[in-house]
Amino acid sequence: MRIVLVGPPGAGKGTQAQFIASHLAIPRISTGDIFRYNVTTGTELGRKAREFMERGDLVPDAVTVAMVRARLAEEDAQEGFLLDGFPRNVPQAETLKKLLAEDWDTRLNVVLELVVETDEVVRRLSGRRTCRRCERVWHVLYDPPARTGVCDDCGGELFQRDDDSEDTIRHRIEVYNEQTAPLVSFYADEGTLIGIDATGPVEEITSRALAALRPFVRLPFTTFHQNDGGSSSVSLLPTPEL
Ligand code: ADP
Ligand code: AMP
Repeated sequence: MRIVLVGPPGAGKGTQAQFIASHLAIPRISTGDIFRYNVTTGTELGRKAREFMERGDLVPDAVTVAMVRARLAEEDAQEGFLLDGFPRNVPQAETLKKLLAEDWDTRLNVVLELVVETDEVVRRLSGRRTCRRCERVWHVLYDPPARTGVCDDCGGELFQRDDDSEDTIRHRIEVYNEQTAPLVSFYADEGTLIGIDATGPVEEITSRALAALRPFVRLPFTTFHQNDGGSSSVSLLPTPEL
């Protein structure tokens, strides 16, 4: 099962990806998480990505595609994956299509669009907090941890992403509208796009997403329980050869 999640920053891709990936037993591959890990650990890849991320711009395609290609070649991604944050523009989508066809003789099964209006994504991003240890996302109002600043799941420290400042949020939304939103018609033309309303409680959106994916999934579907465990598989990649 090869799935892509599309939606503006703050649509809830990371939040939903952890549940969907765990339910379908496929790895979640978040390009944003891989970049952030490499920035934090000071790798060459992180050095290349940092300035673009701080501004809220896209990291150049050559850097991003090389990283994704290396990640998709890893053992755990051979039976399927859930891509969160990639592709982010039409050239990346075309490269992904070519890569899957040439290197794996396969294609994407489905692209799931999370539809949320701009005012709501701004509210979500302004209050987002991320765990330094397990990368689980929280929200100061919509999904607060029991103790302020501490992750309920692992006890890690919560932090606010540098690119979740008001100006950078606005810029990232512009970048989304200009460069990423065209993917919606790209995948609609390919016949792989399904869209769901991504507003409302997190569990309801997960159920909507799983119901929408059901026709595309070969695995037997069981009733979904949000607390049925299963950590998301966050890919923390060593610096690939670029
Ligand atoms: P993305 O990966 O698309 O940028 P996230 O999954 O990080 O988005 O979610 C952004 C913020 O919105 C987080 O603080 C998260 O807790 C919150 N959030 C996610 N889904 C919902 C929802 N359905 N309702 C309210 N807040 C949400
Ligand atoms: P995210 O965690 O998905 O919000 O991504 C955070 C930042 O990482 C983005 O603002 C970009 O700077 C960078 N990034 C993530 N994915 C991509 C991608 N597919 N192409 C280019 N840059 C990306």
